Amino acid sequence: MDDKERKLRLQICDIGRNLFNKDFIAANDGNISARLNDNEIITTPTGVSKGYLEPEILVKVNLQGEIIEAHGDYRPSTEVKMHLRIYRELPHMGGVVHAHPPYATAFAIKGETLDKMMMPESVIAMGDIPLAVYGTPSTEEVPDSIMPFLGKKTAVLLESHGALSWGKDVMAAYMNMERLEYTAKLTFLTRMLQGERELPADRIEELVALRSFYGM
Ligand SMILES: [Zn+2]
Repeated sequence: MDDKERKLRLQICDIGRNLFNKDFIAANDGNISARLNDNEIITTPTGVSKGYLEPEILVKVNLQGEIIEAHGDYRPSTEVKMHLRIYRELPHMGGVVHAHPPYATAFAIKGETLDKMMMPESVIAMGDIPLAVYGTPSTEEVPDSIMPFLGKKTAVLLESHGALSWGKDVMAAYMNMERLEYTAKLTFLTRMLQGERELPADRIEELVALRSFYGM
């Protein structure tokens, strides 16, 4: 195993612990992956808590979903299909995170997109967060549901299920998941205060213009 692969495996374990500690996943839920090269990714195994991952139990699969390397009985999640779709469609994307963070998942169950431009960092980093229509987990319905957003967004709500994010590397994908949940939480809290208040249109334009400055 080269240094790059070792580092990616450690990063995935680290992100798994963060997702778990932040309450973004329950029990064995969620999955994380990172691109190793043009045709291979490292991903989390099914049936284990992502809060207690070890680098050697992660699984290597190719972009067709075939297992290249797996320790013992560890197998990739059936939800890896949505990860693979992103890697196949977007060659410059290096990481994908799927979780069920509670505020975002509540909006996903309600079927409401997060489209209020209320807070500068959320506007710059994400803009609106759309909703991908419901598909049965493990089927091609889920990857099909995210197709309209690939190349346009880096995070979506999965209707009645949870959230999916991606980025240039696995850390960026994780950051997008954090930002998505933070935006959902703010939307919830401001609504409780009856204080949902969008920035003025000219202020939103200023923030959108800043995206290239921040390399987005
Ligand atoms: Zn899920």
